Amino acid sequence: MKARPHSGERVSEANEPRERSGASVVPASERVRGAGAAKPAGQMIDAHQHYWRYDAAQYDWIDDSMAALRRDFLPPDAKREMDAHDVAGCVAVQARQSLDETRWLLDLADRYAFIRGVVGWIDLQGDVDAQLDPLVSRPALVGVRHIVQGEADGFLERPAFLAGIARLERPGLAYDILVFARQLPAAVAFARRFPRQRFVLDHLGKPDVRGGELETWHRHLEAMAALPNVCCKLSGLVTEADWRAWTPARLRPYLDAALDAFGPERLMVGSDWPVCLVAATYAETLALVRDAIGEYSTDERHRMLSGTAMDFWNLR
Ligand SMILES: [Zn+2]
Repeated sequence: MKARPHSGERVSEANEPRERSGASVVPASERVRGAGAAKPAGQMIDAHQHYWRYDAAQYDWIDDSMAALRRDFLPPDAKREMDAHDVAGCVAVQARQSLDETRWLLDLADRYAFIRGVVGWIDLQGDVDAQLDPLVSRPALVGVRHIVQGEADGFLERPAFLAGIARLERPGLAYDILVFARQLPAAVAFARRFPRQRFVLDHLGKPDVRGGELETWHRHLEAMAALPNVCCKLSGLVTEADWRAWTPARLRPYLDAALDAFGPERLMVGSDWPVCLVAATYAETLALVRDAIGEYSTDERHRMLSGTAMDFWNLR
């Protein structure tokens, strides 16, 4: 299902027309359920946002270089951006590793209908069933994530962690894979262990855009895309690039590689707001991806802008 071959060639020919298979396009009536069905085709689901009340101790990863993030970012702030850029709904993703934050995000989803789903955190190495019992009745809980990018090598092979992942299938929760590019081979082996578990790879597996590394990351991304139970978010790229000097042209080869590897059926678009603000405005972040998918058909773009996320998480 590749749009074009790239044996040995780089994937940066942004102007080359794409071949379209079209065969796998799901009818719109099946793609979009519930509230989404009434939305005009242009409206998107932002598959990756964060909220917080800023606290230096709780958010110690926000260092001096990210000073712009040292304030509160709450749903009304996001809504203003979404309204200005034709974004109908979003998925809120955990940023701290605490059950308190998971409950708080679920409370926010109860209050703000545009938060269609929550990817929370639970201690996957602890008693998963006991933690999920009081949470599974919360309809907004659609997935969980652990910040694996901050863990030591070998984390994705830990028996306790694997046992926790195995408990997600029964309550129907998806899992967000957050790793750096160097962890991708381990993440591929990890996802391969759970063929019935739904995974989504955050931020294209965080390629080293700043360092210009493309080839090795691309190979590993294709190995991940070979697993049919894995989707991918077109998100987070501006943060992996030089925050001041990035250009759409510099990022385009990475987006094209993900587009070819996963295809519209398994791609969704996320801003990573407000983290994206260290490198770009919300408008620039969305424009980057919207431009990159501009050559696809209306159905395919709709799939990437909302259909994949709606189906993957069964959003409200
Ligand atoms: Zn994020």
